[in-house]
Amino acid sequence: MRSRGLIAMRAAWICLAGFVSCLWLLSAQGADDGKADVVLRNGKVYTADPARSIRQAIAFTGNTIVAVGDNDDVAPLIGPTTKVVDLGGKLVLPGLIDTHTHPIVGAVNGAKCSLTGVKATIEALTPVVRACLDKEQDADDQWFEAVQLDNYGFSATAKDVDKIEATRPLALWGNDGHTVWVNSRGLQLTGVTAETPDPPGGKIGRDTSGALTGTFADSATLIVDKKIPPPSLEDRARLTAAELKKMSAVGITSLMDAYVTQAEQDVWRRLYDTGRLPMRVRMAIYLPDPNALLRPASNDSDEAVARLVKVSKDGDVDPDFLRAGVIKVFADGVIEYPAQTAALLSPYLDAKGEPTKKSGTLYFDPERFARLVQKLDAAGLTVHIHAIGDQAVRASLDAFATARAANGDTDNRHQIAHLQLVDPADFPRFKELGVLADFQLEWGRREPATEGPIEPYLGPERYRYLYPTGSLYRAGATIIGGSDWDISTYNPFVAFQVGVTRGGGKGQPPLNIHERIPLTTAIDAYTINAAYAMKQDAITGSLEVGKRADLIVLDRDILSVDPATIADTKVLATYFDGRLIYSAPAGDAEQHPESEKLGKWWDEREGRMREWLHRN
Ligand SMILES: [Zn+2]
Repeated sequence: MRSRGLIAMRAAWICLAGFVSCLWLLSAQGADDGKADVVLRNGKVYTADPARSIRQAIAFTGNTIVAVGDNDDVAPLIGPTTKVVDLGGKLVLPGLIDTHTHPIVGAVNGAKCSLTGVKATIEALTPVVRACLDKEQDADDQWFEAVQLDNYGFSATAKDVDKIEATRPLALWGNDGHTVWVNSRGLQLTGVTAETPDPPGGKIGRDTSGALTGTFADSATLIVDKKIPPPSLEDRARLTAAELKKMSAVGITSLMDAYVTQAEQDVWRRLYDTGRLPMRVRMAIYLPDPNALLRPASNDSDEAVARLVKVSKDGDVDPDFLRAGVIKVFADGVIEYPAQTAALLSPYLDAKGEPTKKSGTLYFDPERFARLVQKLDAAGLTVHIHAIGDQAVRASLDAFATARAANGDTDNRHQIAHLQLVDPADFPRFKELGVLADFQLEWGRREPATEGPIEPYLGPERYRYLYPTGSLYRAGATIIGGSDWDISTYNPFVAFQVGVTRGGGKGQPPLNIHERIPLTTAIDAYTINAAYAMKQDAITGSLEVGKRADLIVLDRDILSVDPATIADTKVLATYFDGRLIYSAPAGDAEQHPESEKLGKWWDEREGRMREWLHRN
């Protein structure tokens, strides 16, 4: 994959420069007659070019787009060996780019016991986990993990979890990605005692008497995680490769892994070395402190920065296919009750709407954090910050302002991801500071996660700005899109639908309708703006001559269908680096309507809300 990419890249460059050697290099790819390898014609090609033009046809040779225009423009490029596809009016988009996702963790989790859709009570969880356990032969004292527990409103002690399984150490991972429950055997194996202090940015659950409850939140989950041996490198690579194929099938051709430790870096390297990378991958390096479970944001020493720079350099494997150059930091935790570890400017409310004393806390000292960001920026690295609460967002913007004042505009395209709550005073600062707003568009709808555990605790004044995508768009911010899979689906068409409707299925009220964005903005967030964020807009993100042929063909024209059905879109074909790597099986278009799934929970809403309020 590497050599092919490099040959084609050089060919395109030299051809543009007009050298004679162009023909020789092109012949190395088998196209020596000036004709295109592939022509897609008679369609609707949304180019995402600066004019956002829509054309009829596109042609590419090797991995490089050689023409975008009308049918007549590409006709001279059709030779005897050219593969010609009649699009029959179908829509073509640039390959989609997911700027915040966790493919390896998600793929490994996907192989674990799934609690998706199971009611979060010990009674309901028990038969599901027992069924998973029964499938395993090599029981003994090995850790067993179940994932995607719908942890909103869930509370259980280690003794409760013992009712599911008392012999093997058991961990139940919440679907917010920030909480884990263990049984008594598991708690024992963690080595944590009542005297163990909470790690920075984390919480070890204790009852009123100070006894351990078996719950671990935020960075404290790493205590449990470290005790559970991961699958082998090849097992993780195999699971990830299978998932990447599914991502190709929904049109994703590039992604950023938003949490890369050495373990993830090894998997990406293995996939690259063994030709199993149908994706341009950027790695956001997260470097846990080996001596303590410290967030790297707490460490601004030159030594720590030098370590990050080195790890990032090691991750720059191939400019086309596998790069690092991004550092991931956490500014705070999560906003949902009961965790409420997201840092707010003013306190959380209680269930009755009265202010509490709790505002969450930043995971760092703001001054040290600003120094860290400034140093990373000076080293040419992009900083990608997880910030949920309005205080965390402000502190992140302050740090970027410090970096800019010291270093000037370094074109590092820094990013803040999640942006659950942003104070209106900070809206214009994204544009001013050139900070990209990385939204998980799929989250911006009414569902159990945005209602029960958030709405009453913020109050209407703040809830009105929950996921303020439209506000930031109007303030001139560059919006980029990421799924945060496996927190939520990586299907970009679900994100598009929610981004433009702020709702789920038919008949559901939207969440903050004024925060919707135009569809073209949502598409830009996954194409040209995402490519800009990945620092690969010179080669991807739009369909223009000279760029790589990363493009997809859709079964419907999302620019003109009912927005409440965009989620049902099927990708008919995915071309990556000039190669057809996915084509839909016949009849696939009718299956699995995603918009129905989006609306499904709504029917059960009343009952669930009552139950939840009753429990809390
Ligand atoms: Zn994430």
